[in-house]
Amino acid sequence: MKQFFHNPFLYSPLSLGAGNTITIHAPATVANMVCGFDVLGFAVNEPYDEMHFRLRDEPGVKIINLDEYNLPTDPEKNVAGAALLAMLEEVDEKTGVEVSICKKIKPGSGVGSSAASSAGAVVGLNHLLNNRFIKEDLVRFAMSGEKLASGVKHADNIAPCIYGGVTLIRSIFPLDIIPLAAPSLYVTIVHPQIEVRTSDARGILKQQVQLKDAIRQWGNIAGLVAGLLQNDHALIGRSLEDVLIEPVRSILIPGFDTIKQLSKEAGALGGGISGSGPSVFMLSKDENTAKQVEAAMHTVYNQLSLEHHTYVTTINQEGVRVLSPE
Ligand code: ADP
Repeated sequence: MKQFFHNPFLYSPLSLGAGNTITIHAPATVANMVCGFDVLGFAVNEPYDEMHFRLRDEPGVKIINLDEYNLPTDPEKNVAGAALLAMLEEVDEKTGVEVSICKKIKPGSGVGSSAASSAGAVVGLNHLLNNRFIKEDLVRFAMSGEKLASGVKHADNIAPCIYGGVTLIRSIFPLDIIPLAAPSLYVTIVHPQIEVRTSDARGILKQQVQLKDAIRQWGNIAGLVAGLLQNDHALIGRSLEDVLIEPVRSILIPGFDTIKQLSKEAGALGGGISGSGPSVFMLSKDENTAKQVEAAMHTVYNQLSLEHHTYVTTINQEGVRVLSPE
């Protein structure tokens, strides 16, 4: 993927100086954490988007793209714009913001590309407004961006992007977010270069579940949360099982079963589909294992002659990072 790193404020004659401009890094996130469909997600340190903000005297939102993805610059059609407009409604009628977006998280990859833009946007503007909103408000604004991307308000990418670490979304209405102390695990992600439409991934899900499967699933969710809090790798590994969603959705991802099997043989604790795919993630205790998992992923997709990108990274504990003003 081409990398664009351009800071418009360093060259712009319009620069208003410190206090009016800020740069942030918004991390990728893994939602639908195996058994925790729609309720558990976590942030990772790589990849991340870079965004530059400038307060303007003119009201409204101006979007500038600094990357190759050609996303809409109309604020109502770009998730960053949708999130900022929701926030500005609760600010005043005079404030406006210009945001320049350099995405490194490919849209539609399943690692929270839209969430990074929505969450990054509201954290950036909030910083310029002297942090007048609390994190829960920011999640609420950013969900307007997710609604634009996928048609529904969901927070399992937004919340970890803003809070960092692993977050439990116990409820959306009313919003109830529980940040969980996450152990410092390694994460290997593979993104096969195929398109899985979120609508298809949602459309194939069964609307009813068997009681015995539900019991197994909530046992796993409770086990995973306990394992994360107690830093119990064996319990995390045993609980990384999804009997409801993965058996249906994984058919959309070529080589999924083999990737999972080889990753576990390489020492991964477990993993599954990231978001609604096509990316797949695996958790490991140490970097060496995470790299062996990456090698296993390469083997599978090279055999299938499928172009793919991999990341070996760690859980991001801080969420969107605000860099010091230039
Ligand atoms: P992901 O899980 O990678 O975020 P989604 O399918 O949920 O993928 O969201 C990507 C969709 O949102 C694409 O249709 C993309 O065109 C749209 N979109 C609009 N604005 C943005 C933005 N700033 N960043 C990412 N995607 C955006």
